[in-house]
Amino acid sequence: MKGKKCKCGYATPARKPRCPRCGKVASDAEWKDVGKVLSAAKLRKPPTGFEAPMTLTVVEVDGKGPKVTCWTEDDVAVGDTVVIVDMGGTYICEKQLPKAK
Ligand SMILES: [Zn+2]
Repeated sequence: MKGKKCKCGYATPARKPRCPRCGKVASDAEWKDVGKVLSAAKLRKPPTGFEAPMTLTVVEVDGKGPKVTCWTEDDVAVGDTVVIVDMGGTYICEKQLPKAK
């Protein structure tokens, strides 16, 4: 996952030239597409385009990266390690590591 990171500690997957928190110029950053689940909420009625039940999670990317919202069909819990897949601005996370191709 690519994004921006500021000296103040703010990290975001958005490609903004300046830090939204302190206004300083943020530098390019890249993180591994793995993370730890911080929050998980199972939704019985997800938005259009998703099959129920879906779980909405907040994932901390690669230890020090941004915290992003991810959708998953997997049964994840807080503390689980997940793989994050960028679906064009929407993030999906998977509990199991993908098999090597
Ligand atoms: Zn900043």
